[in-house]
Amino acid sequence: MMKQRPSFPARLDSDKTSKPPQSLLGATRVLTPQSPMRTKPVPMASPAGVGLDSSTVRARMVQKLAAQGVTDDVVLDAMGRTERHRFVDSALVNQAYEDTSLPIGLGQTISKPNVVARMIALLREAPGLQGESKLGRVLEIGTGCGYQAAVLSHVAREVYSIERLRGLHDKARENLRPLRLPNVHVIFGDGMLGYPKGAPYSAIIAAAGGEALPQAWIDQLAVGGRIVAPMQTSQGQQALLVIDKTPQGVEQSLLEAVHFVPLKSGVA
Ligand code: SAH
Repeated sequence: MMKQRPSFPARLDSDKTSKPPQSLLGATRVLTPQSPMRTKPVPMASPAGVGLDSSTVRARMVQKLAAQGVTDDVVLDAMGRTERHRFVDSALVNQAYEDTSLPIGLGQTISKPNVVARMIALLREAPGLQGESKLGRVLEIGTGCGYQAAVLSHVAREVYSIERLRGLHDKARENLRPLRLPNVHVIFGDGMLGYPKGAPYSAIIAAAGGEALPQAWIDQLAVGGRIVAPMQTSQGQQALLVIDKTPQGVEQSLLEAVHFVPLKSGVA
């Protein structure tokens, strides 16, 4: 079933005419003041007929992401094309483009746009994946509401997204159906085992944080591929872990602290 067309509060539209900061001009095509989206609105091609109000707030969100340091145009473009408000509960629609995580039911959350953009940008920076315009096959652990899978569909050739909670798997299917993204495959199952049918993957991205990296993920990663996953550190906090599989072996680096829901085994 499709969600009702949302209406956005006036305050989200009120800064429509403000200019992007000088430093951003020219940083990406969606940010330039000449962008037709900002100066001369045209109807969106969306089959569901979502209005221009959402494209304006989304463009604003993309500007903020760029200001926060997301410099990859391909990622910014994917964030600008993905209608986050379609993935959240109707009561939360007015927060859909704020840089905040939001509840999606069953105790789970959709990540902040900034974290989604940062993790996808990290995948695209993998040394072994340079020279290709798109990522190849990507495995996402934790479909949740399906938002990140939709973003990934714009940067990867195929997206396999696995969810262990039946209720969220069904919800994601429902959210994704009207978008008709033929390269997104949602699977119900335990992502700690990876998803061998789609392997080898050029990238694996986890939306839930574990205590150790499952061996299955490394086994299912192609040589040259990269894993980005939240992981428990020895200090008991969570940080982003980046794993590169090289012909010489596996290299890992630990980046900034993050807060993700726990990675759990089995299905429910
Ligand atoms: N990417 C999601 C965020 C979902 S939150 C989105 O855009 O909405 C993380 C999700 O990981 C939760 O739905 C949780 O149920 C799921 N998860 C946790 N452990 C998992 C596992 N072993 N396999 C698959 N999904 C898992």
